[in-house]
Amino acid sequence: MSEIDWGVLRDAAIDAMNNAYAPYSKYSVGAAGLVDDGRIVVGCNVENAAYGVGLCAECGIVSQLHVTGGGRLVAVSCVDSAGEPLMPCGRCRQLLWENGGPTCEVETREGTVTVAELLPGAFDASDLHRSSTTAPHPRLRSHVGRGTVFVHPDMRGGERVWTGYWVRSTGVDPFDDADRPAILEEAPSWPAAAAAIAWGRARTSRIVVIDDSGTPFWAGEGEPPAEIGQVWPG
Ligand code: ZN
Repeated sequence: MSEIDWGVLRDAAIDAMNNAYAPYSKYSVGAAGLVDDGRIVVGCNVENAAYGVGLCAECGIVSQLHVTGGGRLVAVSCVDSAGEPLMPCGRCRQLLWENGGPTCEVETREGTVTVAELLPGAFDASDLHRSSTTAPHPRLRSHVGRGTVFVHPDMRGGERVWTGYWVRSTGVDPFDDADRPAILEEAPSWPAAAAAIAWGRARTSRIVVIDDSGTPFWAGEGEPPAEIGQVWPG
């Protein structure tokens, strides 16, 4: 992507600020974000007679970002009623982290900073995945180290996801132990196979990934069993 034209971005933020709905504070704010495909999305603050439900201008830009096709924010300018750069509040730094990530640049009165500088140690989706790899439920702890985790692609809510199943058997056939319920615990799903595999590794050293074509891959410890042959490349 070419150089960021901060002048253009700030002018778009000023135009948005001029449409702010701030009858209570009289503190108008506008924001403009440059998207990775070159689009500019804008927002203004929107107050409410119930003061606490007011929306920051950045709420508007992330809504317009998704309404107009998604993508990632690469640069953001927020301005006050004088058209001067304004720092995003704490909540909006979190919005920018989600929609632009750590490298997204933000204009300040002293030059530009990254979102990583504005929100060090940010909480994000990777924390959700990490929490899912923590130890299994106490009732299942005695099973750790046993069984096999199977990971395979699935559709959930229209999104392609990877789901993990922890199965009692130690073979590649999940149904080879007909006497007991085969599935110990059903995992949540993740956008990436790696997160599901990490979840599995907190449970057992035997992980089998089944890809879209139904081909099994070994993602566990050591050499793959003879029935599987190939190692998952991820
Ligand atoms: Zn805010």
